[in-house]
Amino acid sequence: AALLGATVGMLIALLSAYMLYTRLRPGKEILTAIKREQFYVVYQPVVNAKSLKVSGVEVLMRWKHPTAGEIPPDAFIHFAEAQQLIIPLTLHLFRLIARDAPVLKTLLPEGSKLGINIAPGHLHAESFADDIHAFSRSLPQHHFSIVLEITERDMLRYTEVTKLFEWLRTEGYEIAIDDFGTGHSALIYLERFTLDYLKIDRGFVNAIGTETVTSPVLDAVLMLAKRLNMLTVAEGVETPEQARWLREHGVHFMQGYYFSRPMTLEQFVNWQVPSFDA
Ligand code: C2E
Ligand code: CA
Ligand code: CA
Ligand code: CA
Repeated sequence: AALLGATVGMLIALLSAYMLYTRLRPGKEILTAIKREQFYVVYQPVVNAKSLKVSGVEVLMRWKHPTAGEIPPDAFIHFAEAQQLIIPLTLHLFRLIARDAPVLKTLLPEGSKLGINIAPGHLHAESFADDIHAFSRSLPQHHFSIVLEITERDMLRYTEVTKLFEWLRTEGYEIAIDDFGTGHSALIYLERFTLDYLKIDRGFVNAIGTETVTSPVLDAVLMLAKRLNMLTVAEGVETPEQARWLREHGVHFMQGYYFSRPMTLEQFVNWQVPSFDA
């Protein structure tokens, strides 16, 4: 009976996933959604751990679907990739940011970082160099520093792109390894490339304060970053205890709900920088 129950449960799960899939027909819908302006962007501040001042923002995409409601990026990015639509989607994202840029410029001081998530399907494309330059030119000149965020998972697909990373850095882009510690280890690449930031996945940050002894992996990651001369960004900081621990352990930047949720441009304009207690 238990086995039958489990089988039926699995069938129901499969069926509902299929129904969601057919209802959304993600491929076609992504192009329509671009045209109908259903995508929008939110900005999440990143703070300097020493000064607790905002050092920049990470840009995150949102899809407000007319019938399915808010669809999280974890759900649509990989559809876009699978359907070869990641490039039009990212170009659309670039346009949305460029449109916000004059206002962003008034909210963020010169030299502020603008973190953009780049999917491997785009980084790999021949058009990437032109696309990123065009995006850079669409922003107020010399104001923002563009940080390309690439997940550790995706790093493994770049054995042949050492040159691309080097070129991007000489062109003035910075590169962050995202979700560090969750992928198949990209350690081998870290020795080969010089990259700028290690973004420590929130799973590690989460553990701070809940376990009597903090993660030895987190300690090791911080030591590794130091040895490799990389700056560290802790993601998913939700409590003052976590912020304090991270500062005391020499993390350079922090990001998370404790400081701010991702905000629309309008919310960002009205955001009062709180005085953080860390
Ligand atoms: P990510 O790059 O690791 O982005 C950080 C995620 O953590 C965001 O989720 C953010 O809202 C969430 N977050 C930030 N602070 C906290 C916190 O304190 N606690 C918790 N629990 N969560 C926090 P989001 O916006 O749902 O994005 C999920 C993922 O989707 C991103 O992970 C990124 O990999 C991808 N993504 C989002 N926007 C884009 C995009 O424009 N292009 C690409 N290629 N991927 C994107
Ligand atoms: Ca990211
Ligand atoms: Ca991340
Ligand atoms: Ca993530």
